[in-house]
Amino acid sequence: MTATIEPGQVELLPGVRGFLSGSRKFLIGGQWVDAAAGETFETVDPANGQVLTEVPRGRAEDVDRAVRAARAAFDGGPWAEMKPNERERMLWRVGDILSERAEEFGQLEALDNGKSAGIASAVDVAWAADVFRYYAGWATKIEGSTVGVSMPFAPGGRFHAYTLREPVGVCGLIVPWNFPLLMASWKLAPALAAGNTVILKPAEQTPLTALLLGEVFEEAGFPPGVVNIVTGYGDAGAALSAHDDVDKVAFTGSTEVGKKIVDAARGNLKKVSLELGGKSANVVFADADFETAVAGSVNAWLFNHGQCCVAGTRMFVEDSIFDDFTAAVAEAASQVKIGPGLDPATQLGPLVSQEQFDKVTGYLAAGLADGARALTGGKRYGDTGYFVEPTVFVDVDPSFSIVREEIFGPVVAAMPFDASEGVAAAANDSIYGLAAGIWTKDLSRAHLTARQLKAGSVWVNQYNGFDTAMPFGGYKQSGWGRELGSAAIDLYTQTKAVNVAL
Ligand code: NAP
Ligand code: MG
Repeated sequence: MTATIEPGQVELLPGVRGFLSGSRKFLIGGQWVDAAAGETFETVDPANGQVLTEVPRGRAEDVDRAVRAARAAFDGGPWAEMKPNERERMLWRVGDILSERAEEFGQLEALDNGKSAGIASAVDVAWAADVFRYYAGWATKIEGSTVGVSMPFAPGGRFHAYTLREPVGVCGLIVPWNFPLLMASWKLAPALAAGNTVILKPAEQTPLTALLLGEVFEEAGFPPGVVNIVTGYGDAGAALSAHDDVDKVAFTGSTEVGKKIVDAARGNLKKVSLELGGKSANVVFADADFETAVAGSVNAWLFNHGQCCVAGTRMFVEDSIFDDFTAAVAEAASQVKIGPGLDPATQLGPLVSQEQFDKVTGYLAAGLADGARALTGGKRYGDTGYFVEPTVFVDVDPSFSIVREEIFGPVVAAMPFDASEGVAAAANDSIYGLAAGIWTKDLSRAHLTARQLKAGSVWVNQYNGFDTAMPFGGYKQSGWGRELGSAAIDLYTQTKAVNVAL
């Protein structure tokens, strides 16, 4: 089984061909193994629905094997003895290998997820490499502190008190399909920098780059059992989040499954961090630079085919420019080149799966049935693969499902606002609070609005303004905790207070 190359598409690299033609296994305790029950599942190219390859289907017993391997590696052996600068060098090496093999990882991500191979190499893989290098630097910079204690109930005593920052232990990392390699890197890099051991569970739709990454960890010198990778369905994720010997679960995905993880973590009260859904507000004031705001607002909801947790899918536009602005956004969106990820001209690829395709086209139908008007788009694109037209809805009411619910497809709902009445109340009318955009030339208005919006990230005169050093996470039902930056080191360490009587 291998990918079909259509005319106009680039040739697959030999490494990618080889990877797809071999029989895939997953990584437990330094061994590439089959699932205990011998089960496998197929992973599909969303551009044409064809099977790419099969991977093992991990079940609870496989998760248990992986947890035991991770526990053994955490409790003793080379990893437990390793110096921070050795972890630093290995993580840096992972970043270097990813950079060297960016095209290969990009092609594999494009085949499995549907996104453009060029964008995957330049954004997903390049950024993942940056994340590994950033946290390589952190490995040697995790510090406790000395504390001047008073100990009022021990008058006359003398003490030496300090804190140690220690790894949490065995971490389960559960990631989604929209940025498979990148989301894995956001969790793996800080967890390993801090000295934890991990079990990575990629999404069933996109297991391939996680398995290729396993080879990179081996090449970089990570000891057996430090990084374990188990492919499977949601039941494998559920087994990981419920396992009594897992100390922490880090999850990115839907708010619905995030709540299940909280329930599952109850048994041993494992630490939980959650990066969940969004329905982010993108606010355009009339004084914004028109062209910049149009291009940025299209990027806000259309990047990665709208399959972004931060997608700016509720576009609030000041009433005086509403018609012109939405028309320009619709025009720009209609010009986007749609095609398979392996075509270098492609800007917008297929959605990841039949399930997502059905979900997104269902929302298109619901929006139209509710009375919304599509300035562009509104239906599927072509008749093969999971392609959907970029869609700009106007004439929407805040009660419509297309305004309230996360669609995770190339769909935006545009609403006018009166600046004299403020926009924050409407923008904050959501169960989510992941990100927001503000477009204006008025500096005070930009900063004041940034304070009013209930969102974990606010981008002014840009959208998707991420950086590895900036904390990222959600207000409200968009999540618990912050990834990236120094905040992620907090997620993967715990503090021990040591007090010595002198
Ligand atoms: P999902 O079900 O939340 O999947 C995310 C990850 O959790 C996957 O690895 C999934 O495995 C795993 N999982 C599923 N059920 C689990 C359980 N009970 N316990 C532990 N882990 C479990 O997301 P999805 O089904 O792929 O997408 C559904 C919707 O979620 C999307 O339409 C979108 O709205 C939202 N979403 C949000 C993000 C984000 O970045 N915030 C990312 C992806 C999706 P399987 O893949 O094997 O089911
Ligand atoms: Mg799912």
